[in-house]
Amino acid sequence: MALKIFDCHCHLQDPRILSMAPQLIESALRSGVVHFAVNGIHEKDWHLVKQLADSHPSTIPNFGLHPWFVADRSPIWFETLKQYLNAVPCAAVGEIGLDKGSHGREIPFNHQVEVFQKQLELAKELRRPATIHCVRAFQDALEIIKCAGPFPHGFILHSYLGSAEMVSQFAEHGAYFSFSGFTMALKQQTAKKMLKAVPLDRILLETDAPEALPKVGLDSLPSTISECSHSTGLLATGGSSSTNSQGSESLYESLNHPANIHAVLHYVASLLEMPAEELAEISYANSVRVFSFEGSKLFTVLHIDDSGSLYSERIRVKTFCRSVEIIFVYSCF
Ligand SMILES: [Zn+2]
Repeated sequence: MALKIFDCHCHLQDPRILSMAPQLIESALRSGVVHFAVNGIHEKDWHLVKQLADSHPSTIPNFGLHPWFVADRSPIWFETLKQYLNAVPCAAVGEIGLDKGSHGREIPFNHQVEVFQKQLELAKELRRPATIHCVRAFQDALEIIKCAGPFPHGFILHSYLGSAEMVSQFAEHGAYFSFSGFTMALKQQTAKKMLKAVPLDRILLETDAPEALPKVGLDSLPSTISECSHSTGLLATGGSSSTNSQGSESLYESLNHPANIHAVLHYVASLLEMPAEELAEISYANSVRVFSFEGSKLFTVLHIDDSGSLYSERIRVKTFCRSVEIIFVYSCF
């Protein structure tokens, strides 16, 4: 059976890659990446996330205010967010979170907490999963999650780089752990210990594109990906000094794109000492579970009518069931 991969976190609406999004989606689809959870980061890009979701059945929209943009929020940001989430029932909440890293330190932490809490509670109220960015604030995030929980619809700690010791505490409250190219920045032993602490039914994979270009493993990508990458100006070279067809260094060479998730898959599988195919299967099933909320695109069934035209029908999910089986997931197109 062909490999199916779910990119649980990316930013195809990012101005650096938005114009190339259709080609990037197509090249990723051809390589087996069948869904893309596209995360908004501030009020000004939510309409772009919606447009992508409207035009590409494979994209799952997520609306949220990222901690880096908390200081720039408008007085009506929360009302606007609620309007988007109500108008787009297939959308989840993200990217939200807390950041005490070099960039996040510039944003007053009490404001970050207030904005994070409100969005987390909204996700819970709407019964949709939330995607969380957390940098050097894991204890703070855990306390807030404990108070606001339980989260029967789950939440995703994206690009997880927290300790192995904290995994079980987050998992107890409904966490899924998503891994990106940033995992490669950790010492191998540290990464291995962290990955092995994660229950297998909570592992997800992502690219965080256009960020987090994997630093190793891109050479092993199928040639179709690198061909397409070159044709779109995105070089899948893992930071080497490759040149584009004009022979000059591409401005885009340090940008990531969803087809590179294969490098993440292979790296994470190698640290977990399991075949990549097995990890692909496990993480895909986990992704489908967490993104199977009422209204989700994953419940859209495609039919072919008598004239051969394709049409879609949305199945209403009456009750949430964590072990729900997707009876038909539309094929890549
Ligand atoms: Zn992100």
